[in-house]
Amino acid sequence: MAKLQSNWIDQVIRLAIYMRDDFKCVYCRRSLMHTVCPFDLTLDHLVPRSLGGDHSIKNLATACRSCNSRKGARSWRTWGTRKQRARIIKQRRRTLPTKKAAAILLAQGLGDE
Ligand SMILES: [Zn+2]
Repeated sequence: MAKLQSNWIDQVIRLAIYMRDDFKCVYCRRSLMHTVCPFDLTLDHLVPRSLGGDHSIKNLATACRSCNSRKGARSWRTWGTRKQRARIIKQRRRTLPTKKAAAILLAQGLGDE
């Protein structure tokens, strides 16, 4: 039960972060809302785990697979352009729409597992 609940929270947080970022890659601005391949939609650890980054909401951002893999194990501070960094800082201040995300997942029946 505990595991299911933490999965549920993960799903809600993940969707809420995509929504906060308008389903666009924070680096190249590609819209990933209607992406053909759902695997192109990823969460980037702004500061990678290997550099001490955690799983907190503030350390996660929407990225396309291509930017995410090109960025690799580098920090957003060194990899991102000035414009990208400004955008990330701005978007991180947005309120995470967790209630809305939970409602969407529930409507899709994903909360019943
Ligand atoms: Zn990208």
